[in-house]
Amino acid sequence: MTTYEVSRETLEYNIKQLKAKANGVPIWAVVKGDGYGLGVLPLAEVLAEQNIHHFCVTELREAEILRDNGFTEDQILMLRSVADRKEINRLLDLKVILTVGSEQVAALIDQIAAERADIAQVHLKIDTGMGRYGFLPEQTDQVISLYREKKHLAISGIFTHFNCAFSDNELTKQEFAAFMRVVEQIRAAGQETGIVHCCNSAAFLKFPEMHCDAVRLGSAILGRIAFRTKLRPVGYVSTAIEELRVLPKGHTTGYSALWKAKKDTPIAILPVGWYHGFHVSCEPDMTRKRDCLRAALGNIKAMLRPKRVTAEINGKACPIVGAIGMLHCAVDVSGIACKRGDRAILQMNPLHVKGIKVVFRK
Ligand SMILES: *Cc1c(COP(=O)(O)O)cnc(C)c1O
Repeated sequence: MTTYEVSRETLEYNIKQLKAKANGVPIWAVVKGDGYGLGVLPLAEVLAEQNIHHFCVTELREAEILRDNGFTEDQILMLRSVADRKEINRLLDLKVILTVGSEQVAALIDQIAAERADIAQVHLKIDTGMGRYGFLPEQTDQVISLYREKKHLAISGIFTHFNCAFSDNELTKQEFAAFMRVVEQIRAAGQETGIVHCCNSAAFLKFPEMHCDAVRLGSAILGRIAFRTKLRPVGYVSTAIEELRVLPKGHTTGYSALWKAKKDTPIAILPVGWYHGFHVSCEPDMTRKRDCLRAALGNIKAMLRPKRVTAEINGKACPIVGAIGMLHCAVDVSGIACKRGDRAILQMNPLHVKGIKVVFRK
């Protein structure tokens, strides 16, 4: 049996670390992408046990799952604009806070709320560089007039989302400054902004001065951050050796015969492949010349020093050999005491996991 194992203890450890660092600033847990692959509900349940009662989603379905399963009083923020009237109505039924990032969206939500004699809770989105949703800083006058004109919107927050917090500290500081200027102008015009928030995981960990009134954390909760932290990665694939054999010297394994036995070699076959998300990487972004160049250099580097992909079998890291297949991979278990049916552990980000049951353990 193959499962994706999630340790509650590790999740709790990460949440405690993050809470300590937040120092009283509320954490809004982002549970988009089906809870980053762990499942919205099991993840939210662990978060709730740790007294986290604010959630961010990007799909109506995620909000429904929370509301249908006892998360009735928790605050839920929809992080993106919604264009569909039915969907907006449903989100208002569920008392989800909506995001307003343009005059059109403000007008539509205001109108729908008026039709249902309701007041829509909303947060305003400022676009400081991501370029997807949000008012540009130059449109602050438009933003200020929303507070006065839209009688059916209760504007209880304002936020931005950094596009380079992982990679570019200077740019992130500039974006933060631009965001805070918008906030200051709104206040100078005599309006209450409600809660101000801008940090995702990377910005939260790097820039305590940007924590403001709330922080929106996703990947940090799973301990999967591109730089070194005290957080622990949550989750791994647990599978079993389905076949164990000795391939004679000169024999190959896998498609394209990329690996050939230099000597008689014991090989364990695991029923996990790229279909399940094992060792799939995101396509590099090739829209700019310099990205193409960087990808080409990366390929040369990988050629000179191939990255070792391993499986852990009986406590030992064993190299995956040959091409990873759609549903299988082969492991060189030279010098490892093992037999068919023994457990093998593969490291994998749950976001990539497909067709494997996620199981929460103690
Ligand atoms: C995904 C997302 C987050 C959380 O990002 P992490 O880097 O996973 O912490 C925060 N805010 C918005 C708007 C997002 O879309």
